[in-house]
Amino acid sequence: MKLIENWFSERYSDNLQLSFRVSDQLLSVKTDFQRIDVFETYDFGKLLSIDGTVQLTEKDEFVYHDMITRMPFYYADRVPEKALIIGGGDGGAAGELLKLGLKSIRNVEIDGQVVEVCKKHFPSLTASFNDPRVKLVIDDGIKYVRETDERFDLIIVDSTDPVGPAEDLFNEEFYENTERILNDGGVVVTQSGSPFYQPKAIELANKGMKKSFPYVRSYVAFIPTYPSGFWSFTMAKKEEIRLRTENVQNGKYFNLEIARGSFSLPEFAKKLTL
Ligand code: SAM
Repeated sequence: MKLIENWFSERYSDNLQLSFRVSDQLLSVKTDFQRIDVFETYDFGKLLSIDGTVQLTEKDEFVYHDMITRMPFYYADRVPEKALIIGGGDGGAAGELLKLGLKSIRNVEIDGQVVEVCKKHFPSLTASFNDPRVKLVIDDGIKYVRETDERFDLIIVDSTDPVGPAEDLFNEEFYENTERILNDGGVVVTQSGSPFYQPKAIELANKGMKKSFPYVRSYVAFIPTYPSGFWSFTMAKKEEIRLRTENVQNGKYFNLEIARGSFSLPEFAKKLTL
């Protein structure tokens, strides 16, 4: 992360970066796990960055949060009641699941400081943590999934990219444990990076999930502030991946056409999922 003449830049390579002109740097803190920054940008509202990479902005977080919650919700065989979120310390995914009527949500975030920072700067997202249906646990999601015997209808991996504390959230042992604690008919989903700039993430998610689940598919969404704007998610089930079309609630991004069409991948991305 660099702040030069009031620009925050996320570097994609030595030769390429995405820059936001900012009116203020609201916070910068180094935690036991990572560095967290919050900026006030001109065009995207407040921006949360972790280790120099954009996690969310006020203006486009709705795309990511719709797609990481509504897709698995409507592709589960029955209306899901109980969800586990790994990561998601901003509260955005939990908030969407509450709108969908989940009865119980366990949110396991490794870094308590992400939650504190977001409470101060993104209170409309962290409001979900005040709902009695949501239980926030500060712990490593990898360890949590290894040790718990509880079962869930949805498991949502809303993590940072596969480096640092999130690295093992993309490995085979982790997915094996999610299979063990997933109810029949349920869905596991993970964000799996930009197929263009981070081909490893979507490859790892597909390879890892396929060891434990017979049905695995990646889908994509347009997220302007993530690398290339073209982002992927990957879901896994023990049963065929079929859409439930009764009582579908559109989000601000998600609707039935998106639910079906977002599995359409361009050839270069499809190859990464094989
Ligand atoms: N929307 C975001 C994106 O894809 O850029 C993800 C947002 S959310 C803030 C990511 C969270 O995952 C971070 O708060 C980070 O601390 C958390 N995280 C990373 N590794 C984790 C782990 N092993 N267990 C639980 N949470 C983890």
